[in-house]
Amino acid sequence: MARRKKIYEGKAKILYEGPEPGTIVQYFKDDATAFNAEKKDVIDGKGVLNNRLSEFFMTGLNQIGVPTHFIRRLNMREQLVRSCEIVPLEVIVRNYAAGSMSKRLGIAEGTQLPRPIVEYCYKDDALGDPLVTEEHIAAFGWASQQDMDDILSLALRVNDFLSGMMLAVGIRLVDFKIEIGRVYEGDFQRLIIADEISPDSCRLWDIESGQKLDKDVFRRDLGSLTDAYSEVARRLGVLPKSNVTKPTLIN
Ligand code: 5GP
Repeated sequence: MARRKKIYEGKAKILYEGPEPGTIVQYFKDDATAFNAEKKDVIDGKGVLNNRLSEFFMTGLNQIGVPTHFIRRLNMREQLVRSCEIVPLEVIVRNYAAGSMSKRLGIAEGTQLPRPIVEYCYKDDALGDPLVTEEHIAAFGWASQQDMDDILSLALRVNDFLSGMMLAVGIRLVDFKIEIGRVYEGDFQRLIIADEISPDSCRLWDIESGQKLDKDVFRRDLGSLTDAYSEVARRLGVLPKSNVTKPTLIN
């Protein structure tokens, strides 16, 4: 069998050339990193859980007309996605203060924000993904004004969708990060949600107890990351009941 071509290897995923033009295979690794890869570990089963959870969220978004790169899941760790040009921004939506915003502005973690706040960071590992303004984005040509209008609208639609879905299972969506891709259709370009949506890129707190069910469990050494992610998957009905605490690891 011919070896497939690796296109890119990141901290949590590997991208391979897909079987048809315009497609990519996205492989979810078990590697966990935090603080710009200063803290690293391998967490058995994390990739399997994130593959399933990202499939679940992206499928739901596609169904309500929010375009994503997701085409279909291929196996435990891989999904087929649409190839796209990644806009070099991390788009963060916050409903409650936490993490870097709490630190930057001195607002206690968990404080409800007056309305969802959208922030943009320039995607550059060497610089630690610095926060930027729309002035930087326009001046350096990372996205046009039309792109920014579309990105804001996509980000807020994802926020409404995910917040409602989480609320229904007793989880507060504190904040999340998404990435945006450009696809070209004839003379037109369209923006779609790319990368992944998973507990690696969201802050998820149990509404009753405040327990953290996201990557902060790893960042702050709060216990088992796979137990936390499995709990999210179980509540959403993503994992079959018999498979709840430990996903079967095939590859
Ligand atoms: P903060 O800016 O507070 O560190 O992060 C805000 C939100 O965006 C959190 O849900 C966090 O998980 C997510 N986020 C920010 N930067 C990254 C990143 O580089 N990778 C991932 N997976 N998530 C990020």
